[in-house]
Amino acid sequence: MKKKIAIGALLLSTLMFNGCSKDGDSKENEKNLSIFLVFNGMPLNNEWKIYKKAEEAMGVKIKSYASKNNTDSTQAYNLMLASNDFSDIIAYRVPDLEKLGSDGGMIALNDLIDKHAPNIKKFIEENPKYRKDMYSLDGKIYAIPTYYDLEKLSVSSGLFIRTDWLKKFGLSIPKTIDETENALTVFKEQDANGNGRKDEVGIFVRGNIQAALNNLTGVFGARPYKTFYAENDKVTFATLDPNFKDAIKLAADWYKKGLIDREVFTRGWGARDTVLPTNIGGMTLDWFGSTASYNSLTAQIPGFEFYPIEPLEIKNGVKSVTIGRNTTPEIGWGISAAAKNPELAIKFMDWWFSEEGRRTWNFGIEGEHYQIVDGNPIFTDLVLKNPDGKGPLKVLQEVGAQVSGPGVQQNADYEYQYSNNIAKQGFEMYMKDGNTTMPLPILKYSPKDIKKLEKIMAPVNQTTEEYMQKWILGVSNVDDDWDTYINRIKQNGIGDAIELVQKGYTHYNSID
Ligand code: CA
Repeated sequence: MKKKIAIGALLLSTLMFNGCSKDGDSKENEKNLSIFLVFNGMPLNNEWKIYKKAEEAMGVKIKSYASKNNTDSTQAYNLMLASNDFSDIIAYRVPDLEKLGSDGGMIALNDLIDKHAPNIKKFIEENPKYRKDMYSLDGKIYAIPTYYDLEKLSVSSGLFIRTDWLKKFGLSIPKTIDETENALTVFKEQDANGNGRKDEVGIFVRGNIQAALNNLTGVFGARPYKTFYAENDKVTFATLDPNFKDAIKLAADWYKKGLIDREVFTRGWGARDTVLPTNIGGMTLDWFGSTASYNSLTAQIPGFEFYPIEPLEIKNGVKSVTIGRNTTPEIGWGISAAAKNPELAIKFMDWWFSEEGRRTWNFGIEGEHYQIVDGNPIFTDLVLKNPDGKGPLKVLQEVGAQVSGPGVQQNADYEYQYSNNIAKQGFEMYMKDGNTTMPLPILKYSPKDIKKLEKIMAPVNQTTEEYMQKWILGVSNVDDDWDTYINRIKQNGIGDAIELVQKGYTHYNSID
């Protein structure tokens, strides 16, 4: 009996093969798409369920170009370029894909979208804000970005303070820098955690040196020190803003007074895990979703409340600075010049902009990760209360959902659904007019200008980091050093960098 089935199956497959033998082999190949995609150490996995779903919907077979061991995206990408053996679709940093496109390695998608991608076309037509980011400097589209959902969620971080400690001492929510100084002083001097020691650390921040510097000085009204910004369409550099110097002086003053964590630059990414469960951290600037989740500490620390507060009023017209989201993380995908069937590739890419495609990338698989309730996808307990204790994002990314790379638009509902009410309060507070500083839009540069900018900014940023740390920690004095610092970054070429960014910004404003 077994044998018969085997023969039958063999016969059937022979027949099928013969049935399309005329151009069968090439036809089969035409339905295959190889994709290069490595994100945050995760190479595309052929078994990811949302890609299985896309295969089913589009009648294609996809294959990951990178092997499971290719966890370093830069290395894997450079390896592919060196091998000259490209995948059909490449997902990577958009500026790199545009460079590859200008060198002839990627296909311009403009006509393909026009003819074969009704969903992408519709998205471009309906979203002028996102459309601009799709065009490279020469007007060609080489990559479709992964887009955020700024209408619903344009902010990600803000200030948090121990509101239970404020209540304990009858203090109201601080709105100004003086009220905050008073509150943090009281926390420390009057033993907010009640252990008999002056161990409360005031302001703490999380991250490597770069992130820690930005989060700390943002409290005092400084923009992130590596960024450019525009006022009345004129571009300038963060540290050249007079408010920047004032913010550093305030930070230095508070550090000296013991209102900033002594280990502010050395705690690293685990800072919250060190100072919140030990009941010593008073205030921070950090992401809403993850920071708000520490309120579950109330189980161990009775009354524990770490709530978002509005940006502080530093002085007239100056508030604490947090930077809003941009339209895209500048990651996306396009079609390589080696693609055997660009038409099939663009149709496959178009699916992700269909209602089903977008929902799948955002919410995973219906019935498993979400259910439709009143017409909207609502996460199941597998995502929100995972039995193995995995976080929502991890559960989703294990099937490829919410993994950046594909051209697709995020739906911020996904983040709202797994954020607690405290995080949502933060979103609302900082989405109010004037409470969040929006970054410059995504600017396009020629590969030559990108190189020039990198060459100037590496020493500028290094110089700035060194000085900022010395100033804040009190190793040297801001006023004494300021002119020397400014001269050094001028020598590094900050003036030329500003001109290059201005050029990019003027170009951005010139396109529809
Ligand atoms: Ca204490």
